[in-house]
Parts: sequence; structure tokens; C-alpha cells
Amino acid sequence: MKRLISTRKLKLAIVSDNKNEAYSFIRNENRNQNRALNVAYNHLYFEYIAQQKIKQSDQDYHEHLEKYKTRAKEKFDNLIKLKESAADEKKIEKAQKDYEKAQEKVYKIEREYNQKAAKIYQEAVGLAKQTRVRKVIEREFDLHYDTLDRITSKVVSDFNTDCKMGLLSGERSLRNYRNTNPLMVRARSMKLYEENGDFYIKWVKGITFKIILSRGSKQKANINELKSMLSRIIEGTYKMCDSSISAGKDLILILSVNIPVNKEHTFIPGRIVGVDLGLKIPAYVSLNDVPYIRRGIGSIDDFLKVRTKLQSQRRRLQKALQSTRGGKGRERKLKALERLKEREKNFVNTYNHFLSKKIVEFAVKHHAGIIHMEELKLDRLKHKSLLRNWSYYQLQNMVEYKAEREGIAVYYVDSSYTSQRCSQCGNLEEGQRVDQETFICKNCGFKTNADYNASQNIAKAEPLNIEKRKEEAEV
Ligand SMILES: [Zn+2]
Repeated sequence: MKRLISTRKLKLAIVSDNKNEAYSFIRNENRNQNRALNVAYNHLYFEYIAQQKIKQSDQDYHEHLEKYKTRAKEKFDNLIKLKESAADEKKIEKAQKDYEKAQEKVYKIEREYNQKAAKIYQEAVGLAKQTRVRKVIEREFDLHYDTLDRITSKVVSDFNTDCKMGLLSGERSLRNYRNTNPLMVRARSMKLYEENGDFYIKWVKGITFKIILSRGSKQKANINELKSMLSRIIEGTYKMCDSSISAGKDLILILSVNIPVNKEHTFIPGRIVGVDLGLKIPAYVSLNDVPYIRRGIGSIDDFLKVRTKLQSQRRRLQKALQSTRGGKGRERKLKALERLKEREKNFVNTYNHFLSKKIVEFAVKHHAGIIHMEELKLDRLKHKSLLRNWSYYQLQNMVEYKAEREGIAVYYVDSSYTSQRCSQCGNLEEGQRVDQETFICKNCGFKTNADYNASQNIAKAEPLNIEKRKEEAEV
């Protein structure tokens, strides 16, 4: 079964007796970790340079490499000559293959000598790379062995990535770890358990955290989802992964969880669903690559209908209760009534479940592996006062976790001008949205549904914080 890594932010409170020591342990560890990351990274860079020097001083290597580089260049020139003279295709194809082979040989020589230099270096210092890094930071910092493990593996993987991205050719600069980086923690050291409906984590140094699920508006949105996720970790269907703790004003656990994906869908590469959240039509969805596949989901009337339906269900039940005397039937009805009252209170919640389900279904149906939504800005919300009640944060949250279960990624895009810009030619000008429903471009004349135009802009926009999101997923 396919699995994916998902992250959740959880507020923590220290509930073990050693509160003060625990706080100072976390803060010190965090500070030392980030300093150690920089020391370890610079150490790897230094080692790399040393190995380059070993390679460069090897005369055989240079002669060997030059010989094959020259050969590859000859093959390349030959290929170009054939192409220019419009030789027959078979000849060109063969020349192309010859060139690729020769180039591959050059890479092979470079790889072999890199390995040779690494070996010479290793023999000189006598330790494996990971161990060398670990020794360097162990000497300088007093760190828990879990943190040492995480620093070592993170720094080696970061350095390799940076090298691939062109660190040494100057396309990428040396990495600098900021002191705001959260503290990396190991999954194996976190024991999650439930007690009287609350969730706790037993960690290192005799520290126990309680997971605070009730506070914070953004969290409120998905308390049930969080609870069910935590229960699934305890029962073993989900697996906790190495995570991190951010120790700012609050202690926040950035929990990574390995979850199974319900179904396996085939996605069309590059296909994206843009979601425009509005008032009259709560969600308008369209695809970035096929203009006629689009849909408005829900309506303000629907929203009100849900509420009315719940109200009448409740009234019916109340009437029925009046004619039911006692016993089990009455008890059952009373419970049902309680549930209905709860649902009525939460009708926004219910409606958001409906909308988010439809949005994700649209993506699955049309084989889109990515959903784009707008990053909500407070000033934008102010203009649409009803949005506040609607709880768009909650809706986005639901879309995120429902999408996740289907293996669909959710990204956020900048919300500026999504409704004023023309999705066809990009023209940005005042007054193109002529009324609530219609958009007419003053440049190219494109006339369309205003919500559709906005969803197109969202589908085609560059996602924000993609790097950061990936980092979070890796932590
Ligand atoms: Zn236009």
C-alpha cells in the first residue's frame, strides 16, 4: 500500500514535575543544535575541498580525464557536422549515441576519482564520514545522542543535495542554519499514550508533554481529525516519524506521521486544480490545463438549506419524543436529539465537510495530483464579513487532510489580484470584474465567469513556500 508523510502542528504543555529543567533543556538543546548544524556543515565543506585537492594533485587523473574529454568533444563535433549537412537519420542517431557514450565515460572517470579521493582521505583520518561529522560536533557541544543522530544525518543529506544543486559551481551558496530552526526529535524516543481522553507524550530526560487540543483557532478546526490521527498512531495503523519541536512563545510539536493512502489514483503529471473560495459560490474549481472542465461547488442557498434541514429534523424528533413514554426507545431518541442539536450548532462544520469532500472528489475524478488554494489574508477577509463565520481556515484544513488521504498535495498561492487579473493574457487593470459574476478583460477581451477566472489564476500561480513545506515534511 502507498504511504505518505503528513505533518501536523500540536501545542504541547510540559506536565512532568521537572518543568523548569525541561524548558531549559529544550532551549539549550535547540540553540546548540543549530550552532552544531553550521559547524558540521562547514566541516563537510572543508572535507570536500580537501578531497578536491587530492584529486587535483593526481597526475594520472588529469591525463586520463583530458583524453576522454577530448574524445567526447570529437564525437560532439561529428554529431553537429552530420546534423548541419542533413545526413540521413540513422547516421545522426548513431553519432548521437556515440557522443552520449563518450560523455558517460567522462562522468564515470570523475566519479571513480571522487571515490578514490574520498578513500585516500578516509584512510588518512581513519573514520567513516558520518562518524567524523559526529565526532566534530560531539567535541564542541553537549548534546543528547538523539540530537546528534539527527544533526549528522540531516547535515550529510543537506550537503549532498546542495552539491547536486551546484554548490561548487557557485549556483548555490553555502547553507546557513538559522537559530529559529526547530529542535529535531526522534520518533523512537516519543511514546504517545492516551489517558482519560487526553493525549500525552513521554519523551527523553523524564519529560512528559500533554497535547493541548482545545486552544488556538487554527487548531479548533480539526480537533476531531487530530484525535483520530493520534488514536491511529497508538493503535499502530499510522506511524510516527522523526519530528521537531519549535520552542518559541509556545511549545509546538511539528509531528510527522506516515499514513497509508486509501486508494491508488493515477494522476496526470502537471495537472492542478485551482480552488477559488467565494461567497455566492463557496468554491469554484477548474483545471490549469483543460479549460472546459470546471465547476461551482455549493451555493449560499445550500448552506442555508443544510441549516434548515437540521432544524426541521430536530423539531420532528422533539415532537416524537413527546409521544414516547419511556424505556430504551426514549433514551435512544434523546441521544439522537442531542446529536442533532450538536450538529445544528456545527452546521458550518458540516457544510465545510461537504465542500471539502466535493473539491477533493473533483481532483480525483479528473486525475489532478495537486490542489492550489489561496493563502488567506486577514485584510481580504475583512471585506467579506460573512467569511468570518464561514471559517475558511477550517475548510482549507479539511481539504488538506482529505486530499492527503487520496495522495493529493495541497499548495497555497498568493491571493493578491486573483480576481482582478485576466487569466488568459495576465492583464491587471481596475474594473475588469464588471459585476459579481462577470469578468471582461480590457486588453484581450476575454469574457468569462468571474469565479472561473479567479480559479484559473490560482491554478496557474506559483505556489508559495514550497521549499519550506518540503523541509517541514522532511523534518
Ligand atoms: Zn486578457
